Amino acid sequence: MLRTDGDRAFRLLEAISFERLGGSEEEKQAADILVDKLHSIGLQPEIEKFDIWQYQPKQARLEVLEPYIGDCEVEVYGLTGSTSDEGIEGEFLYVEDADEVSLLEAEDKIVLINKRVNLKKYRRLAEAGVAGFITWGGNIYRREDIPRWAIRPEYFKHGKIPGVATYADEAADLIQNSASRVRLIVQQEEEEVKSQNVICEIQGDKHPDEVMVITAHYDSVPYSSGANDNAAGSAIIMELARHYAENPPCRTLRFIWCGSEELGLRGSFAHVKKRKEELDEVKFVLNVDVAGAILGKNVATITGPQQVEHLVEIMAKSSGVAMSTRQDVYSSDSIPFAEHGIPSLNLIRFGAPIHNRHDRAEYLSPYRLAELGDFALSFLDQTDSAAMFPFEREIPDDVQKKLDKYLERVRGKDEDEEKETGNREESG
Ligand SMILES: [Zn+2]
Repeated sequence: MLRTDGDRAFRLLEAISFERLGGSEEEKQAADILVDKLHSIGLQPEIEKFDIWQYQPKQARLEVLEPYIGDCEVEVYGLTGSTSDEGIEGEFLYVEDADEVSLLEAEDKIVLINKRVNLKKYRRLAEAGVAGFITWGGNIYRREDIPRWAIRPEYFKHGKIPGVATYADEAADLIQNSASRVRLIVQQEEEEVKSQNVICEIQGDKHPDEVMVITAHYDSVPYSSGANDNAAGSAIIMELARHYAENPPCRTLRFIWCGSEELGLRGSFAHVKKRKEELDEVKFVLNVDVAGAILGKNVATITGPQQVEHLVEIMAKSSGVAMSTRQDVYSSDSIPFAEHGIPSLNLIRFGAPIHNRHDRAEYLSPYRLAELGDFALSFLDQTDSAAMFPFEREIPDDVQKKLDKYLERVRGKDEDEEKETGNREESG
């Protein structure tokens, strides 16, 4: 069996384990580290830039005016616009999940709503005509980090509703103390900035016009070192690139370390858009997102033909790796390719913390990185070396339906409740 080096992968993981938000200076630093690493193994990477929306918080204040005078600690909710210096004043109302009953009397009020605002909730707030909103995150029994959340460009069509986020216990106090009138001040600078994908293509020597894409995102969410999500996947696919730098593939392998995945798969969507003319050549996508957990389990999510699932099952059994398989969509960089009919395998090891300050290298191990890395390499090798490409370029009808629903939900055409389709909806 082909082997990757878990210790070496772990060192790269540690080297990029710092907060690296899409479009930030730190994300660029991580990209530079990946570029240097690729150069050092004799490869020629390129940077693919794309635009994303970012914000700089300037001021966020929430004052209780009636029936008592008080201050509530809040953080800017990104990209929701700004108030004047004096802010906006209004009645306070708790609207829970922004359901239609709770919103009946919400017009012109400053509303408190549960957790992160998804597109559906945002649309409802806009339709109800609220003046501003307050969300809360985290646990009521243990204060950690105040949420740094932002709406996405898909929400912009519903207009700007100035928003802030606070701690769960602060939110509970507002309700328990019967706050009835508040003043909200939110100020932020919003701008389009550059994020980037790191791309490295290794030409195939037998079937150069058949392309396999290997992806892992390297950005993180706020407060998170993103060791697990997804420095781990970034380090694993670096091991794969290293193997093929030394052992030229039969087919062309295009490695993409995607930027701004956490902002809504921005890097992979941008790539697919830019290279639209060449997508016919792309036969398959292998994506690694979340890996290395000491306590955990391996999952293979296949957005493609049954043949792939069968091969994964057989490989897992023959190599003695526990791996549960399912045909589904995984909210990660394989999605934009799937939208163009390109099948994919997502390799994941769930179990360690993600999307909060606890996503750190200490809960991960070189052993588990190597386990998933070896599996990924063996899969890639079998597929690459096949005399004839082994998989149909198809997505079964039931998986296609899940994909359509996912895309409709993130783009705001669907009215259904959010469903768990991966790690994207976790708050923190
Ligand atoms: Zn991820």
